[in-house]
Amino acid sequence: MVSRVIPVEPFDLVIFGGTGDLARRKILPGLFRRFCAGQMPEGSQIIGAARSDMDDAGYRKVVADAVGEFGGGRDCESGTLDAFLNTIHYVTTDAMGDGGWETLNGKMRDGHVRAFYFSVGPSLFGHLAERLHRFGLATPDSRIVVEKPFGHDLETAKALNATLAEHFDETQIYRIDHYLGKETVQNLMAVRFGNMLFEPLWNSQYVDHIQITVAETVGVGGRGGYYDKSGAMRDMVQNHLMQLLCLIAMEPPAKFDPDAVRDEKLKVIRALEPVDWHHIVRGQYAATEDEPGYRDDVENPKSRTESFVAMKCHISNWRWAGTPFYLRTGKRLKARASEIAVVFKDAPHSIFGADAGRHRNVLAIRLQPNEGMTLDVTIKEPGPGGMRLLDVPLDMSFADALGPDAEEAPDAYERLIMDVIRGNQTLFMRGDEVEAAWAWTDPLIEGWQTRNDVPKVYDAGSSGPEDALMLMHRDGRKWREIKA
Ligand code: NAP
Repeated sequence: MVSRVIPVEPFDLVIFGGTGDLARRKILPGLFRRFCAGQMPEGSQIIGAARSDMDDAGYRKVVADAVGEFGGGRDCESGTLDAFLNTIHYVTTDAMGDGGWETLNGKMRDGHVRAFYFSVGPSLFGHLAERLHRFGLATPDSRIVVEKPFGHDLETAKALNATLAEHFDETQIYRIDHYLGKETVQNLMAVRFGNMLFEPLWNSQYVDHIQITVAETVGVGGRGGYYDKSGAMRDMVQNHLMQLLCLIAMEPPAKFDPDAVRDEKLKVIRALEPVDWHHIVRGQYAATEDEPGYRDDVENPKSRTESFVAMKCHISNWRWAGTPFYLRTGKRLKARASEIAVVFKDAPHSIFGADAGRHRNVLAIRLQPNEGMTLDVTIKEPGPGGMRLLDVPLDMSFADALGPDAEEAPDAYERLIMDVIRGNQTLFMRGDEVEAAWAWTDPLIEGWQTRNDVPKVYDAGSSGPEDALMLMHRDGRKWREIKA
């Protein structure tokens, strides 16, 4: 396959929190893979910044270890790591103090794209933005990359947007949601808007309902302290599931351009109806013989925070009136699997009679594992015995269809970092989108608090609480099986 990658300019990328978990697991190995793929132009440099006292050599060791542990790529030859490490520097910098900033400024070069990745806790975002200005590092076309969580509720998100806006223009702010960097998620737009086949059917006249599932097998583990203040609604629904919902439900933008796409996503969020509390199920995973339960994991025996949430939502607009969207996400479920399923309506009349059963087309977009799409199509069951019908999937696994190119496709973080360098904001959340998403989730969370809602306990390794299954059954529908 001929590569048509858009080239990038030489850049200076500063990773605040360059010694942290996210930098080591995702950002640095991802940059190395882009380097191996020839996408990091000569003359680019990466500067790690954190409080730990270290020199360049010390940080290069951190980077080499991270690459060793979390992966190189197919094109990475043995000498490449040394060449990559030559682009790496480190400056001891305190986001809340004045130490290191002059040195950091001295490393920045005129005429290069400047990107500052805030891979630190959210309480430091404002401090970093302010110091980048005060110490003269921020130029008019510098970019900042802001990690999740973006606020804890509408009020804190507004305050954070306002703080960042004091120092940076919206066109310089890249709020990252790594779900948007996933190949399949972008493919969703290609499938919807690049084909004639689907869009005419993409509405309430033909679509019975849509399911979005993001299931994890892990518990909250070492993140219990953070998670218990957050819960599945804040940690997953307000950002990742909401973004998926937007892409599946939005109107076709006039062009694939950052504001055109984000305007359409924003309209979806604003058209979401408040959710009836009977249409939400929250859960907490139970302990097993070998593994602690949610409350043990967060060391709070009275916790009412949800590790699972399922809900039925409606979008009030012409396209979707009457088509429910069912969302669910949770931890310690039976498999790690994320998918969006568009379930089409039954054919208006069955010429095969009642014995043929009920058959529906389902377009399933798998985000993980094994990214790809399947389209269930009804056919005749082979062999004699009359006209019996069967649903078979037309299966397109990207790994099978695209071969090694699919395996080497950049992962979400790699792609998004390169988009920052290119100055392309299409796959990043705009400030008003984030606020609109909080404006929708806040009342739901407040409702649980005022009603003293207690999450249902569910078995680890299951599909979630029984009530979540009932949420669908009551409507004569059922969740798709969660399977890896
Ligand atoms: P982490 O492992 O705790 O790392 C935090 C980093 O920030 C360290 O490099 C730390 O180094 C640095 N730091 C702390 N205080 C600082 C200060 N005052 N000045 C300068 N640097 C400081 O956290 P993380 O897991 O990498 O997460 C980073 C951000 O990404 C958070 O906002 C998190 O919510 C988000 N995120 C993380 C993940 C993930 O998988 N880890 C996923 C999604 C989002 P020193 O102690 O040496 O200063």
